[in-house]
Amino acid sequence: MKILSVNAGSSSLKFKLYEMPEEKGLISGVFEKIGLEDSFYTIKYENEKIKKEVPLKDHEVAFKILIDELVENGVIDSLDDIKGIGHRIVQGGSYFDQSVLVDDSVISKIDELSLLAPLHNPAAIVGIRAAQSVIKNAKHVTVFDTAFHQTMPEENYLYALPYELYEEYGIRRYGAHGTSHKYVSLKMNEILGRYNTKLITCHIGNGASISAIIDGKCVNTSMGLTPNAGLIMGTRCGDIDASIIPYIMEKKKLTPKDVDKLINKESGLYGISGVSSDSRDIEEGIHKGNERCALAQKMFVKRIVDYIAKYYVEMQGCDAIVFTAGIGENSTSTRREILDSLKVLGIEIDDEKNNTRGEEICITKSSSKIPVYVIPTDEELMIARDTYNIIER
Ligand code: ADP
Repeated sequence: MKILSVNAGSSSLKFKLYEMPEEKGLISGVFEKIGLEDSFYTIKYENEKIKKEVPLKDHEVAFKILIDELVENGVIDSLDDIKGIGHRIVQGGSYFDQSVLVDDSVISKIDELSLLAPLHNPAAIVGIRAAQSVIKNAKHVTVFDTAFHQTMPEENYLYALPYELYEEYGIRRYGAHGTSHKYVSLKMNEILGRYNTKLITCHIGNGASISAIIDGKCVNTSMGLTPNAGLIMGTRCGDIDASIIPYIMEKKKLTPKDVDKLINKESGLYGISGVSSDSRDIEEGIHKGNERCALAQKMFVKRIVDYIAKYYVEMQGCDAIVFTAGIGENSTSTRREILDSLKVLGIEIDDEKNNTRGEEICITKSSSKIPVYVIPTDEELMIARDTYNIIER
């Protein structure tokens, strides 16, 4: 059965087509600058990558071109071969603790939650509507970034603000990257050969979050109401003293929009280093003796260590730690710096094994009290899996 996994942004559409249940990726690609002047798409198929510059008026046009490409490349015979489409949704609030079949009430809830994810939820609805109008006979499923974190206990998801804010506006921790944390934790349990485990999963990319997972259920996560909580990220500050916000607004005469930009786009690695939000540039800066890059990296690593230590204590132990996403999968130096700070937990890194990028591997010595793994994440596959399971059910 062919299942399409899609991730619609306001001007982009990423896709990957799978043969399920074999979980075989057939073709993938991305449409970019939809609705803008210089729109184009790239497709990866059988180790070849093609790029075409075409006008993409809207997401519906992108879906039509996508279907044409699938037929032309012989991946499908006709539209009807695609039985299911899984849509990635950033914010599912308290409504969704698992993936669901799309109907009008699901769409209206996603719409209602747009207040919490103004850049993402409206774009995802545009994507669903466009897919529904082009691929009419397929079943549509929504997969939520927040769903995996819905098992957190109240004391971990509530903020110590007036309780009415939670009741009236749903102000609480929802987390994000749930699909990734779920994927790597499932993989980790498979590797350990058991499911009664305590795991700490570190999704460290441009956006970054850490989760504490007991017996496959998330008990805590570092992102909050929005992704700007917890770790220091490429351009996000993560945890800060909340009173800094009104203070700088007053001092610098900033509007809510201005301050939102400052903490989401101008902070983090970029804000501290003044050089870049990209960890490769930070590493290069450190190499060249740039002290602000070194400081940014030190702060970045320290925050990750703080969260691992916090979750270790919270879960009263840990059976394995997992690194994933761009930095987690590729930055050998960041992983080493983190694990060197965790020696007190009996973690012993194996430098030779750690000297690998983007592949599944245990990077600690056999004598290490806690094994640490690199597991490349695969959110698209997780979306396809959920979609397939719901359709089969
Ligand atoms: P997101 O999906 O949140 O945009 P990614 O998971 O793609 O982010 O991660 C992007 C980050 O991964 C960037 O900071 C980038 O520098 C880092 N990264 C990718 N490859 C490497 C590498 N080989 N070495 C160090 N960092 C890397």
